[in-house]
Amino acid sequence: MISFSKPSSIDYDTRIFALREKDEEVSVTLLRSRQRIKLVLGDYQRTRLKDSKPTSATLCKKGSEYYINIQVKSEAPEQIHVDTVLGVDLGITDIAVTSEGQKFGGKTIKLIKNHYASMRAVLQQKAVKGTRSSRRRCRELQQRLSGKEARYQRQINHEISKAIVTRAQEIPAKIALEDLTGIREGVNQKAGKNHRRKVNGWAFYQLKEFLGYKALAAGVPLVLVDPAYTSQTCHQCGEHGIRNGKSFKCPVCGWSGDADFNGAKNIAFLGRYVDRPGGSEGLPSIKAVLSGLLKAPVFRPE
Ligand SMILES: [Zn+2]
Repeated sequence: MISFSKPSSIDYDTRIFALREKDEEVSVTLLRSRQRIKLVLGDYQRTRLKDSKPTSATLCKKGSEYYINIQVKSEAPEQIHVDTVLGVDLGITDIAVTSEGQKFGGKTIKLIKNHYASMRAVLQQKAVKGTRSSRRRCRELQQRLSGKEARYQRQINHEISKAIVTRAQEIPAKIALEDLTGIREGVNQKAGKNHRRKVNGWAFYQLKEFLGYKALAAGVPLVLVDPAYTSQTCHQCGEHGIRNGKSFKCPVCGWSGDADFNGAKNIAFLGRYVDRPGGSEGLPSIKAVLSGLLKAPVFRPE
């Protein structure tokens, strides 16, 4: 037997649906008439709808209420043209350190991560050993916990990426990050142990993604640089230095300090040689730049 269910949604394109922004209502063509329907909007929806061009909409009925899903296309603003670069080193203890020395993450987040990790360990033990019902309860708790942890991580990544993009807008500067694509898969041969730890660490790809779309929306260019030797090179003199955990020391000029800050400075330096976003091919390495193989670009003194 074939059963036909009553359709519960209608698709609209821009010919038969219109958004009247000022009045916060939509005008849709129904079976026999064209109706104006008042929208119930929250702040988020209001911001998204503002100055956007709706492309299509779906009207759904859930119980006795109607919902409308409006697809909007937001146009990215024109990218700013600057020579100044804000280098960002995505790390482990500090989730991000900028070439201005601003640090994000650190102790509090580490404590919370450790707290989640120890709870996971306890639950895992109980989930294996306990009675049948306690095992089930543990599994439920484990699931809830992983959801909570993921939401926490997401929230923090949103905050960090927003702060970095806002700062780049203020300077104004483009953002430079290390190109670590393919490292987790072992494709990227340039990566050392330190880089592999990074990409396996704190939701690295999520933070990168958030930075990418927030930068685009703010008109801030984002460029990727060659990661090779950015953490071993001294940003002051360009010589090979010694990295020990979070600290860096240069035996040649004597500079010592935060290793991630040193990395961020090198990333910013390299960012001046890259003027187009994306693309991991043909990125200049710090060695090539320092050995004079590349002519220095013209940039304003900082
Ligand atoms: Zn040095």
